[in-house]
Amino acid sequence: MSLVRTRIAPSPTGDPHLGTAYVALFNRCFARRRGGSFILRIEDTDRERSSGQSERKILDALRWLGLDWDEGPGREGGQGPYRQSERTEIYSEQIRVLLEKGDAFHCFCDENRLASLRREQMRQKLQPGYDGHCLGLPAGEVSKRLARGESHVIRLRVPREGECVFTDLLRGEIRIQWSQVDMPVLIKSDGLPTYHFANVVDDHLMEISHVIRGEEWISSVPKHALLYDALDWERPVFCHLPLLRNPDKSKLSKRRNPVSIDYYQAMGYLPEALVNYLGNMGWSMPDGEEKFSLEQMEASFDLERISLGGPIFDREKLDWLNGRYLREDLDDAEFARQFAVWAFHPELIETITPLLRQRVSRFSQVAGLGAYLLQGELDLGVEDFSHNKLAPEACSRILQFSLWALEGIPELNRDAVETRLQQLAQAMEHKIRDFLFPLFVAISGRPVSLSVYESIATLGLDLTRARLRDAVTALGGISNKQLKKLEREYRDLPRQRA
Ligand code: GLU
Repeated sequence: MSLVRTRIAPSPTGDPHLGTAYVALFNRCFARRRGGSFILRIEDTDRERSSGQSERKILDALRWLGLDWDEGPGREGGQGPYRQSERTEIYSEQIRVLLEKGDAFHCFCDENRLASLRREQMRQKLQPGYDGHCLGLPAGEVSKRLARGESHVIRLRVPREGECVFTDLLRGEIRIQWSQVDMPVLIKSDGLPTYHFANVVDDHLMEISHVIRGEEWISSVPKHALLYDALDWERPVFCHLPLLRNPDKSKLSKRRNPVSIDYYQAMGYLPEALVNYLGNMGWSMPDGEEKFSLEQMEASFDLERISLGGPIFDREKLDWLNGRYLREDLDDAEFARQFAVWAFHPELIETITPLLRQRVSRFSQVAGLGAYLLQGELDLGVEDFSHNKLAPEACSRILQFSLWALEGIPELNRDAVETRLQQLAQAMEHKIRDFLFPLFVAISGRPVSLSVYESIATLGLDLTRARLRDAVTALGGISNKQLKKLEREYRDLPRQRA
């Protein structure tokens, strides 16, 4: 039997996501059980959205969870480099092969043409997609336009008739009509590959035997399968894991549940408990036991036993499991040690020190002043928000608008938060003092505290979002209808400087 090689391939475009940990866990367990290797590849071809900071956070989060990799950044195996931005040459070589065989073609259509094509297709209620306009361009014309340096992309030729047939390990045979599959861009106008192209090339060259990833990628398989076939490469085994869901069955999303691994670390969960909980998502131990270690899971893992019934990520269940770990696995000494590591880890202390230093004359004041930075929930009531000018609805509105404004900041640091919130206050025609009042209460539990901008940057987006949401609930909540109305109002605010 050939060697099992699995991988996760996160794009470093945001905070480390629970979904990445879940997929990493299953990939790692499968590889371990079969004596294979688990690879980490960074898919950073989107140069605008990728950042080194996000990559670092993803690697740190995986290490924190104990889900480290056999090959990947920092652990060179034979098939590196493991960052797509360092593999550009490799993609150029493969695209030449596809162009020569006529499976890929140069496309010179500009944004305007594509936009009006899309409009026309919508008008006619047709499936939007590329219409093959540049497919038949004579070779001579293509070379001339290339020589002139005309902006272009390279697309994959997709049949217009028939269907793509592939197998998913958990679902069996899947058939998708080619007419439903758009002709994807493989190389963008900046010369860099797209996800579809780089992903297939790398999975093949890194000898990935099993592509185990989230269900949301099933619709991409026809494009990938076509690429494997065109390059005369054997397709890997595809296995799409069921998506994690909120308790109301909706797709797990940050709107309802914190999804960044950093949040769970900041809330004081044990990594073992979080990993164990993720192991219960669609999978179970043969003996039905819900509490198990990573080693135990690796020893009995089996892809066939994954159930497709939409695993629910339930915070209460996670709390229950984490509580069991704290009580059953840690004695007093170990609890004390781990608590101290969590509460006083140098990075956190370093970030909160500048906030506190100027405000205290004794160490004994630090805890009182800074406790909210370490706390989870603040437990506020509507009375905490009584203000002589702002009614509870006005407070909710400020908090909800602030959340949307903060979500739009690419990198949450003090200055960015300050600029953005001040713009918002102005657009909402509130005096900055009044505007900041509900934010102070929501974030710190008090009407005055350390810099609210700095606090938001320190807490990070997930904790901030959770606090703002809790505060809105304390203020009476926002119904779906009100939320829609607020969304419209937010969109209609006077334009603010970016
Ligand atoms: N870069 C993709 C992601 O961000 C990888 C998807 C895949 O596993 O093919 O999830």
